[in-house]
Amino acid sequence: MSLVKVKGTYDVLPEESPKWQALETYVKKVFKKFNYQEIRTPIMEYSNVFHREDENSDMVTKETYNFLDKSDRSLTLRPEGTAGVVRSYIENKIYASKDLAKLWYMGPNFRYERPQKGRYRQFSQFGVEVIGAMDPYLDAEVIALAYDIIKGLGLKGVSVKINSLGDKKSKENYMNVLKAFLEPKKDLLSEDSKARLDKNPLRILDSKDPQDKALLVDAPLPLDHLTDDAKLNFEKIKEALDLAEVKYSVDKRLVRGLDYYSYVVFEIQADIEGFGSQNALGGGGRYNELVESLGGPSKPGVGFAFGMERLLGALDLEGINLVPDNLLDVYFITFDEASRKEAFRLQNLLRSENFSVELNYTGKAFKGQLKEALNNKAKYLLILGESELAMGKINLKNTETEEQIQIDIKDITAILKEKLHHV
Ligand code: AMP
Repeated sequence: MSLVKVKGTYDVLPEESPKWQALETYVKKVFKKFNYQEIRTPIMEYSNVFHREDENSDMVTKETYNFLDKSDRSLTLRPEGTAGVVRSYIENKIYASKDLAKLWYMGPNFRYERPQKGRYRQFSQFGVEVIGAMDPYLDAEVIALAYDIIKGLGLKGVSVKINSLGDKKSKENYMNVLKAFLEPKKDLLSEDSKARLDKNPLRILDSKDPQDKALLVDAPLPLDHLTDDAKLNFEKIKEALDLAEVKYSVDKRLVRGLDYYSYVVFEIQADIEGFGSQNALGGGGRYNELVESLGGPSKPGVGFAFGMERLLGALDLEGINLVPDNLLDVYFITFDEASRKEAFRLQNLLRSENFSVELNYTGKAFKGQLKEALNNKAKYLLILGESELAMGKINLKNTETEEQIQIDIKDITAILKEKLHHV
């Protein structure tokens, strides 16, 4: 029997994990700049956090992992971050202590989707949820944060698309106009779109089916059905985005998968050769009804999520490397048992000073040790043999410049501190 991973999942192997760590570290710094705080919610929730009676988005109806626990409670593995964060916001009464909660999260999600390039059954997202205010500057800040992330990474083939669905009234108006437009064409729509016609017609607008696309060429668009208030709101957001120097464009056809969005919606899209059809790196929007619909007070919210696999894929394709070159400060190379023993002692000493250190445990000869040092991307080699040991000396070699000096063993910490700028 050979064991295999679950369909649609993947392992992050040791060679790949530095990329993940580097991305995680990077985005955490951006969150700090924008004054967001981390929230960690469970990976599983009671199913009613995601499955609501009035809810009919695709994700909720068919894409979740649901199961009964041993006490017959219905649980769901989270398919996204927002609902769990909102559940926690309500349950912990975060609103009582914070007028405005600016939260970020990071972690795995689960969706029972057909796996393909850029689409997995377990995938990771980071995102933000800002709950407690309805302010165009805040919407602009959230979009600016998403923009800051991609700009700071140096991604070139990536753009920000925004649209507005308007307030409740605009959405209702528009939904009626759209249904009236689509109804006579019903038989020509794809099966997916047909099913959406009654429940979630907005999603039809972003159908990837070629025949749907052709039918939709002259479909009415949300932006043309905004109330005056909603129009003004969108104008203010655009103005604020200009002030924040965010490069964006308006995409009149942009809608998002979940039906709780209103007002501004946005997406970060990759237009990079070889990226594949799943080109949304991230997206989000405003959700003013969600907190109340989950049993909380009436609090407006806005947020986004980025898919980390896709972001890492985009970085790879654009040749952007976030991982610092040298992973290891020092690698010991030894020739005999006595020097190996001394290296083991020195390794401990250096680690107590927070240097990253390695020596060979697999009985390799000089050449093999050297190879391992280079594989580990060590900045320095400390080379120790019988004759050096007898003199209380050790050879220190810079792997980049190949410069080698002999130093007193007793000075090892001081010299490495100086060379590696350790404080
Ligand atoms: P969503 O929560 O559907 O708005 O998705 C936000 C982002 O999460 C997308 O833009 C993708 O980058 C990522 N994402 C969503 N679903 C998947 C999936 N099945 N596999 C990988 N990434 C995903």
